[in-house]
Parts: sequence; structure tokens; C-alpha cells
Amino acid sequence: MNAQGRPTAAFAGESAGGEETVTGNRGLRIEEPLIFEQDSPGMTGVDLPAVPDAPLRLGTVRPRGRIGLPGLAEPQVVRHYTRLSQKNYAIDTGLYPLGSCTMKHNPRLNEKMARLPGFADLHPLQPQATVQGALELMDTLAHWLKTLTGMPAVTLAPAAGAHGEMCGMMAIRAALEHRGEGGRTRVLVPESAHGTNPATAAALGFTVDPVPGAPDGRVDAAALKAKLGSDVAGIMLTNPNTCGLFERDIRSIADAVHEAGAYFYCDGANFNAIVGRVRPADLGIDAMHINLHKTFSTPHGGGGPGSGPVVFSESLAPFVPVPFVVHGPDGLRLVEHAGGPDAGTAFGRMKAFHGQMGMFVRALAYILSHGADGLWQASGDAVLNANYVMARLGDVMTPSFDGPCMHECLFDDRFLKGTGVTTLDIAKALIDEGFHPMTMYFPLVVHGALLIEPTETESRAGLDQFVDTLRALAERARAGDAAAWFQAAPRLTPRRRLDETTAARKPVLRWKEGEGRAGP
Ligand SMILES: *Cc1c(COP(=O)(O)O)cnc(C)c1O
Repeated sequence: MNAQGRPTAAFAGESAGGEETVTGNRGLRIEEPLIFEQDSPGMTGVDLPAVPDAPLRLGTVRPRGRIGLPGLAEPQVVRHYTRLSQKNYAIDTGLYPLGSCTMKHNPRLNEKMARLPGFADLHPLQPQATVQGALELMDTLAHWLKTLTGMPAVTLAPAAGAHGEMCGMMAIRAALEHRGEGGRTRVLVPESAHGTNPATAAALGFTVDPVPGAPDGRVDAAALKAKLGSDVAGIMLTNPNTCGLFERDIRSIADAVHEAGAYFYCDGANFNAIVGRVRPADLGIDAMHINLHKTFSTPHGGGGPGSGPVVFSESLAPFVPVPFVVHGPDGLRLVEHAGGPDAGTAFGRMKAFHGQMGMFVRALAYILSHGADGLWQASGDAVLNANYVMARLGDVMTPSFDGPCMHECLFDDRFLKGTGVTTLDIAKALIDEGFHPMTMYFPLVVHGALLIEPTETESRAGLDQFVDTLRALAERARAGDAAAWFQAAPRLTPRRRLDETTAARKPVLRWKEGEGRAGP
């Protein structure tokens, strides 16, 4: 049964009125109205002089009425946004086991470095002679990304992993066109892939050809090789894959892909599992994005921006987009114009300006403060933590594949069979227990997936608390007659079970006077 979007029903066992308060507030958690609902017309935080009676200079464009901003005093605004911020769950407040997202602790050192005025206050149009330090930082980060991956070229520009995928596939297309093989339009993508992989290929006009998985959770290498042909542009493979497993056949797959005249794009979102231990170049990869916000710890997920540098092999290096840093007689210089004298066969550019500077600073601070041994330990501990979770839950939940796993462990919903409880119910019950849920229903290759990525920054004590909670929930689900209790979850949040399907299909993004609000 697909229980997603099930509307909230009061749980029968709940004491009627027992949890009610006069105000609707619970403890110090305030039932916060929308800012528009707090409107006191005419109220303002500043005293502005009356608007002088000046002639309109907008020609025929005339204001038709008030623009509808609420009247508020400054303390009201401050409290409103502070209260909203307190409703956030963040990696700074607790375990965030969202699989494939690498929600690890963001060391404060990174933040301190990113706030140095010499980095934080730069303007992207400043003369290059005045930003030599920033260019050196970009050049140094590029050096370490190339070193960690063994690849000869990198672009720092892409704004996230998905944008990096697009960049890598555009370089592949440019390389194919350059050698007169632009007719290669098929891209092979395993069924377990993150949705951005087929979306990227499709957005660029490639035809997506799905490759089935093998029973052991890896891609079916024989099926993949059988699909290779003279119309294949490339493959997009994730390693470790989204089942948390290392693709054992990756070398022979790479060889077969190259033999067929195609390119190997690797989705590097899971680099955290192998950084400092495996160099993607040694696996035969031609292009791979690195999610700086995942592997190198910069805040993400309702927080900071993404950043998705892409590393390239020798064969794709000539097509790396602008801008990139070069060493000249007068110091460092940015090559900014595709088609210009130093840009070679760069295929173009991915975005305005130079990339997410603040994230470059954070990522480099993370890399340099860890050092080679620290990165080696981080990936090892990430894998150890995931295997610990898998081992401690293996008897009450159902691991989808035989272990060991890499940095995340995948369960499916077979352990819930016959209980009336679903993966979604488990996730909602976890919220009541104070944990952000794991990734649910992804990857699609197993039924009712629960994908847990603890990361290396969780202590054993923290993992034990989480595991003990999940064990208790799994046992409760199996205790019989528990379905109604689970289906009522979350019971302790400001909003209860939401109709997520309607919210996604018919989002209400604007407040309209007099419409009121939907119920809890
Ligand atoms: C996170 C992720 C992406 C997309 O990265 P964004 O930075 O969110 O755009 C792609 N593939 C996998 C496997 C991921 O986990």
C-alpha cells in the first residue's frame, strides 16, 4: 500500500485535550503565525518622512495599490524569523542520517576562514591584480582535488553536483563532436542511479538507456557491456553506488566503455567513502563531479549553497570550460572567455563569475586541516560507522544486500511485512524520537528503501542511541496492532502528517488575505 500523502487522523490512543494548551504553544515552542497574519496596518520599524509630492517618472506605469507588505515592529520581525530558525533541524542539532547526502559536522575552522574579509568581501568584478590571494586559493584547491582524484584537469565552476554532471556530460559531448562523432546519443545509466543522472543526460538531448542491477546490488556488468555500441556517448556510474556498495567490476567496465569509443562519467557524490584511499583516475574514469558540500563538509541542506567541481581525464581536459586559473609572468590570471587566446577548445562556461568562493575556502580549509592521513581516516571511519549501524540493525531490520557496505547501509521494508507499518511510518516515528529520518524510498531498486549514512563525525555513543531507537521501533512495529500508532506519527511536531502529495502537486506559495490556513 502506498501510504504517502495519507492525511492526518487523530490517534485514538491520544488523551483528548491532555496535550492542549490555551495558546497552542507547547512549552517554549511557539505556534508561530505567518508574518502576514501578524500585520498591523501602519505599524513600522522606522519613521520615514512623508513621501514628497513629486511627479511620477514611470510614464504610464502607475502603482495600482498597496503592495501588501505587513506592518510590523522590528522586534516582531526579529522574533518571527528567530522562531522559524528554531524550528529547523540541522547537523548542528543532531544526527542527520540522510543516505547519499553526507551530512557530516562542518568544522568551525572552515567557517572562520571563509569569513576572513580578504575572501568574504571580494567582488567578482575586482581587477585580478587585487585578488591574487583568492586566485591562489582556487589554484591550490584545484591542485588538491586533482591530486586526490589523480586527474589532470578540473573546473571549479559548477554550482552543485547536478550542475557538475551537466558540465561533465557537456565536456563529453564537446569531445565527441570534436572528433566528428556527435552522432553518439545514447547514455547508459544504471537503474540504481540518483535521479539527477538520467535527468542530466535527458536535459542535454541524450537518450537514456537504463542498465539493470545484478542480484548483489552492483550494476550488471555483462548487461552493461552488451549495451555498448557505436551510438553510445558514455555511461554514468556512481561509485560507491547508491546501494552503498563498491562497483567491483569498475575497471573492466571502464575498459569496455573506452574500447567502444565512449566516455566514463562517474557520479562522485559518494567520494566520502573512498577519499584518500582510491584515486578515481586509477578506475578509468573520464569525468567526475565532487560535491564539496558533501565530502568536504560545507553546510548544505537548507543551509549553504552547493559546489560541484568536476575533474577530467587527459582525453577530456582540452574541453574544460572557462574560467580557469593560469600562471602568468605577472602572477595568477583567470582565463574567462571561451574562444579567447588561452581558452583552447574550452566548451564554454557553466555560470556567471567564478564559482562558490566561500565553499572553495571551506573545502580547502577542510582538506589542509585534515591532511592526507586525516582524509584517509575520515573515509575509513565513515565506512566503519555505516558497517556498525548495519551490523547492529541486521537482526531486526532487513539489509538489502550482503555486507560489508561502504559509507551507507541500505535496508528494505521486508522486516515490516505483515505489520501494516511502512517505511514512511518508521521515518515519521523517528521524528517524534528526535532524529532526522534516513533517506526513504531511494534507491528505487529495492522495495521501501531505508538508506542510512551516519558519516564519520558521529560518535559510537551517538550511533548507539540512534540504533537503539530504530531497534525499538522495529520491535514495536512487529508487536502487532502497532500500525495505528505509527500512522499517527509524527505526534509531537508543530505539524502532523502532511499530505505531501498534494503539497508537491498543488503547492500554495502565496498568502492571500482572508483565505486562512489549512488545518494541522
Ligand atoms: C547529492 C547527489 C547528487 C546531486 O548533487 P547535488 O549537489 O545535490 O546537486 C547526485 N548523485 C548522487 C548519488 C547524490 O547523492
